[in-house]
Amino acid sequence: MAGSSRFDTHDVTNQTPPYVNVDLFASDPALQAAVAANGAGNEATELSKFGKRWGSADMVEAARLANENPPKLKTFDASGFRRDVVEFHPSYHQFMRESIGAGLHAMTWRADGVRASAPAEVARAARYYMVAQVENGHMCPVTMTRAAVAALSVQPELRDRLLPKILSRDYDQRFRPWSEKTGITLGMGMTEKQGGTDVRANTTHAEAGADGYLITGHKWFMSAPMCDAFLVLAQASGGLTCFLMPRFRPDGSVNGLRFQRLKDKLGNRSNASSEVEFADAFAWRLGEEGRGVRTIIEMVQLTRLDCAIASAGLMRMALVQALHHARHRMVFQRHLVDQPMMRSVLADLALDCEGALALVMRVCRAVDRSAADAEEALRARLLTPVAKYWICKMAPAFVYEAMECIGGNAYVEESVLARLYREAPVNAIWEGSGNVVGLDVLRVIGREREAAQSLLETIRNEASDLPGVDEAIAFLAKNFADPEVETNARGVVERMALLAASAALKTSAPRAAEVFAGARLAERRNAGYGAAAIAPEAQTWLLERTLPVG
Ligand SMILES: Cc1cc2nc3c(=O)[nH]c(=O)nc-3n(C[C@H](O)[C@H](O)[C@H](O)COP(=O)(O)OP(=O)(O)OC[C@H]3O[C@@H](n4cnc5c(N)ncnc54)[C@H](O)[C@@H]3O)c2cc1C
Repeated sequence: MAGSSRFDTHDVTNQTPPYVNVDLFASDPALQAAVAANGAGNEATELSKFGKRWGSADMVEAARLANENPPKLKTFDASGFRRDVVEFHPSYHQFMRESIGAGLHAMTWRADGVRASAPAEVARAARYYMVAQVENGHMCPVTMTRAAVAALSVQPELRDRLLPKILSRDYDQRFRPWSEKTGITLGMGMTEKQGGTDVRANTTHAEAGADGYLITGHKWFMSAPMCDAFLVLAQASGGLTCFLMPRFRPDGSVNGLRFQRLKDKLGNRSNASSEVEFADAFAWRLGEEGRGVRTIIEMVQLTRLDCAIASAGLMRMALVQALHHARHRMVFQRHLVDQPMMRSVLADLALDCEGALALVMRVCRAVDRSAADAEEALRARLLTPVAKYWICKMAPAFVYEAMECIGGNAYVEESVLARLYREAPVNAIWEGSGNVVGLDVLRVIGREREAAQSLLETIRNEASDLPGVDEAIAFLAKNFADPEVETNARGVVERMALLAASAALKTSAPRAAEVFAGARLAERRNAGYGAAAIAPEAQTWLLERTLPVG
C-alpha cells in the first residue's frame, strides 16, 4: 500500500465522517415545518442560506477555537494603570460579527423601539436555533442586547439616543465611548455574592447626582464584560432601581467598573463572565426608583425565551451527531441505527427534540402576536418560563444520552458532544433557575387565574383528540385552583410544557404530535430514553425526519 511502512500498525476503519458542510435548515424538516406553521414560511430561502453558512466546516472550526482559547482579563497594563479590558480569540469576534451582522440582536425591534411585526420573533428564533447548534458563548451578549431594548423603553429619551447604535448591524469591538462606535452591545448585572435570585437583597447603592447616579458596590456574576453598557440593579433612596451603566462616563473618561476576575466556568467558555466592583460608577436611571425589578423583568422574559431556544438547539445538534454516527458505525455486522435498542433510544430523543422545537416556536409566535391579541400575550407570558423550565432542564440529560449513543469518542474534547454537554446546564441556572421560573409560572396563574383557565381551554382545543390531553387538563385545572400548589409546582410546569408542546406539534407536525402525546402525556415516561413505547414504523419516520438520508 502506498506510503505504508512497517510502523503502520493498523488501518483506521469504521469511523464516522465529521458532520460538517450541512445546511442546518434544509436538513431539518421539523424546523421547516415549525417555521411555516408559525408564520415565517416565506423566510425559507434566507434561512437556508443562513443554515448553510452556520453548518459550514469553517464555523464548526471557529467554534472549537473560540472555546479552546477562552477570553483573558487584562486588569492592568505593564505600568500599573488599570485597563479592565477582556481580550478574546479572533474566532469569538468572528461569531459576534456574524450574529450581529445577521441582526440576531436587533431584528425583533423597529427603528423606533417598538416590536417588529410578525413573524420577526419566529424568524429570529429559527436563526438562533441554528446558531445554538454551533456556538453558544457569544450569544450571551447578543441575547442581552436584544432583550435590553424592552427594559430601555421605560426611559424613551435615553432609548432613542442609544437605539441607532444598538440596532446597527456593525459589530464594533473597539473599547471606546458608545457615542464614538458604529454599533454597541448591552449586558446585565443583577447577581451579587449574597444572592442572585433574591435581588432585593442587593447591597450595591446609588447616589443621585446632577446628570445621573454614582454607583458603588459589586456584582458577582456579570457576563460579557466588554459590552458598552450594562443594566444593573442598585439600591437608591427610593428602593431597588434599575440603571444603565456605560463603560465610559459622558465626559469620555473610563467609568468606574473594576473587573476582579473572570469566572473559571464548566462550559460557556468562549463567553467571559466577570466579577466586578463599581467605584462611583456613573449610570442613568431606568424607570422610577424602587421599580428596578419591574423594569428589568421586561428584559428577563426575553432572555428566558432565548435560553429555551438555545437549549433546543443544543439538543438538536446532539441528536443529529448521534444519529449521523449511528448511521455510519457498524457493530456486530450491523449499523448501530439498525440495532433495535439504539433505534428506540434515538427515536425517543427525537421525540423530545420535536416537542422542544415546536413549543419554542409556538411561544415565539405568541410573542409575535402579543400586541394584537391578549390571549396570545398571556400565552407568551406564561409559556416562556414553562418552556425555559422544561427544555433547559431536559437538555443536560438529553445531551448525555446522545453522547452515550456515540460512545467513548463523544466523551473526548475533540468531539462536539463534550462541549455541548458542558454548555447545557447553564441555560437552566441563569435567568431564573428551575424553581424560580416555576414560582414565576405560579405567580402569573395566581394573578390571572380566569384568563389562565381560559388559555388552558384554548390549548385543550388545539390538542384535542391527542392521547393523554384530558388527564393533563384535569390535573392542571385542579392545581391551578390549589393554594398549596407550590410543593407540586415542578409537576404542574412540566405537565403544562408537555401539553403545550403536544398542541404546538399538532399544528406543525400532526404525526409527531400523536407519538409525542402518546409517549409523554398518556404514558408519562419516567425512565431513561429508550423506554417509551414508540411503534417501529413511528421510530423509522421520526429518524428519517430528524435527518433525511441523501
Ligand atoms: C455562567 C454564568 C453567567 C452568569 N451571568 C450573569 C450575568 O451576566 N448577570 C447576572 O446578573 N447574573 C449572572 N449569572 C448569575 C445567575 O443569574 C445566578 O447564578 C442565578 O440567578 C441564581 O442565583 P444564585 O447563584 O445566587 O443562586 P440562589 O439565588 O442562591 O439560588 C440557589 C437555588 O435556590 C433556588 N431557589 C431560589 N429561591 C427559591 C424558592 N423561593 N423556592 C425554592 N427554590 C428557590 C434557585 O432556583 C436555585 O436553584 C450568571 C451565572 C452563570 C453560571
